[in-house]
Amino acid sequence: MKEQILILGAGFAGMWAALSAARLTSLHDRTDIEITVLAPQPELRIRPRFYEAGVENFAAPLLPLFAVTGVKFISGSASEIDTASQQIWYHNAQDQLVVARYDRLIMATGSHITPVLPGAQEFAFDVDQLESAARLERHLAALAEQPDSAARNTVIVCGGGFTGIELATELPSRLRAILGDTTPIRVIILDRSPVAGGRYSEQLRGVIEQASEELGVEWLLNSEIKGIDETGVTLQDNQHIASNTVILTLGVQASTLTQQIPAQRDPQGRLHVDQHLKVIGQNQVYATGDVAFASTDDQGNHALMTCQHAIMLGRFVGHNVAADLIGIAPLPYRQVNYVTCLDLGAWGAVYTEGWDQVVKSTREEAKKIKVAITNELIYPPQAERELAFAAADPLAPFV
Ligand SMILES: Cc1cc2nc3c(=O)[nH]c(=O)nc-3n(C[C@H](O)[C@H](O)[C@H](O)COP(=O)(O)OP(=O)(O)OC[C@H]3O[C@@H](n4cnc5c(N)ncnc54)[C@H](O)[C@@H]3O)c2cc1C
Repeated sequence: MKEQILILGAGFAGMWAALSAARLTSLHDRTDIEITVLAPQPELRIRPRFYEAGVENFAAPLLPLFAVTGVKFISGSASEIDTASQQIWYHNAQDQLVVARYDRLIMATGSHITPVLPGAQEFAFDVDQLESAARLERHLAALAEQPDSAARNTVIVCGGGFTGIELATELPSRLRAILGDTTPIRVIILDRSPVAGGRYSEQLRGVIEQASEELGVEWLLNSEIKGIDETGVTLQDNQHIASNTVILTLGVQASTLTQQIPAQRDPQGRLHVDQHLKVIGQNQVYATGDVAFASTDDQGNHALMTCQHAIMLGRFVGHNVAADLIGIAPLPYRQVNYVTCLDLGAWGAVYTEGWDQVVKSTREEAKKIKVAITNELIYPPQAERELAFAAADPLAPFV
């Protein structure tokens, strides 16, 4: 019987884990090792683009790529993991419960928003997953049919992190395309911080403030949200803002499947892993992407829940799991470079380098970098075996 590497999730981390494991087993002629990806859809969903219009287009097919690289795909959703018997249970495409065994398991099930605020579940939108972003897009388009009112023309974005800022700065042009140039639209970011972009470097904050001002995006700072209902948002000080469109961008947590692995997790539910991305205290289970709490360097930095980290974590974990079964030395995960490229709608974008977020370019120049990243760099490689394997090498240059 073949040895089984089972990867849960076909996102950035899961896809690259599969390609990297396939590359190493191929280099060592180990046809006795089978690599399987299990996920609901055989496609890479490009989450970093979900704040843009046309969200249904932001998914790339994976079956041709998996076919040429010898990766097996199972359509299903994992619901139970038993690390003692090395088995998982999943619901297949026909919704039957099926069991699968593994020799090595890679957790790559990503993250999701948790709508914990009162009323959020019923009344808020988000751009976290393809289905929910598509729901928001349909809602925005339908605003044109509603009678003109302050509530119709006001969109509230809860949370001023990267996703909130990218969405809010994109919304003025999206709303004008739907409601017309003369409609008095308002886009408001609610954040509990006392300054806009409070968790970023001073330089980056300056750019965010300037772009927000020029685009007319308002920041309502020191805001604690009390609740959301069909009329809008109420703050802790009982201030009420009327809006038919409240969008959540805060409260991201790792996939709840991580709770089934007996191991230490960080406050976002990510599994603590060692330098080879093996879950600490587990011998057959590895974690990658948004479900892994991994050290990136010797300076005390850790991978963030970003695609930038998920891609490299995927390449390293696939390599190391295959190395484990082949019996060769694994590679310690290292990702010293850290960049950010934040879209700022019609204003342009901002590109920074380093953990201290030094601004390197802005406006149109940074926008070109952003487009190159989100429209090309993060997409799957071509379905050509040699090209895919070259790209999957964890030591190949990235950013
Ligand atoms: C709006 C938005 C903007 C973003 N912008 C940026 C950006 O500009 N730059 C950046 O670096 N990052 C950005 N990110 C973050 C980035 O998208 C994530 O960090 C990245 O997708 C994580 O990759 P992943 O493979 O760990 O998880 P995901 O991409 O979420 O993939 C998870 C996979 O697991 C599957 N799965 C989930 N549950 C199960 C289950 N029970 N059984 C089987 N399979 C399952 C899913 O279907 C999916 O295939 C953004 C995210 C969002 C939502």
